[in-house]
Amino acid sequence: KKITIAIDGFSSTGKSTLAKQLAKHLGYAYVDTGAMYRAVTYYAMEEGYIDDNHFDEKALVNNLSNINLRFVFNADLGFAEMYLNGQNVEKVIRTLAVSSKVSRVAAVSAVRAKLVEQQQQMGANKGVVMDGRDIGTVVFPDAELKLYMTASAQTRAQRRYDELIAKGDKVTYEEVLKNVQERDSIDSTRADSPLVKADDAIAIDNSELTIQEQFDKVLTLVAS
Ligand code: C5P
Repeated sequence: KKITIAIDGFSSTGKSTLAKQLAKHLGYAYVDTGAMYRAVTYYAMEEGYIDDNHFDEKALVNNLSNINLRFVFNADLGFAEMYLNGQNVEKVIRTLAVSSKVSRVAAVSAVRAKLVEQQQQMGANKGVVMDGRDIGTVVFPDAELKLYMTASAQTRAQRRYDELIAKGDKVTYEEVLKNVQERDSIDSTRADSPLVKADDAIAIDNSELTIQEQFDKVLTLVAS
């Protein structure tokens, strides 16, 4: 019987790595909800609604209906890529420029309402692994398996830094750590749906776990 797997946690806790592994292993769909918030942020940047100093929340909210988000499976990569109004934005939404604004956009309740509804539709038939911040609490409070991932800010910043450098992004470790801490702070104090562990979520601290160890551990949870 197919189930819904909700994976929540702070940024760079390895949620997407785990979610992709699980989806592949189980033959489930994988939905990266962070990519959706990132794509809306990218849209707002392109339209000039947000930059480092200013955010025209009203303009974004008034234009939400012009934002079309779609995941398109890429067989070569083995996962779905994010498309914004027909354009593949999978790469541009991962830059530090987007990361530094996404939490402000994700704090807008009309944005959350739109994306949560779309996420609920995507998971309506079960057989889905969804990662984000509010999946086990808001999007799928009835998910059969909920995981809550944690790791120290330093461990997470180092991982994100390594990823960005590998992609050729010019960033410093200090910048990335600052961004991780800022997002932690905004994500956890947001009034609308702050990042909190669902009561029935299983906490996994992977600071000291390899990707394989973590996967093996979680597979035993799926089986039980
Ligand atoms: O998971 P990722 O780091 O890509 O998410 C980017 C940002 O999107 C988070 O820092 C958070 O502000 C927002 N987000 C959210 N709710 C989700 C997923 C992501 O608010 N379900």
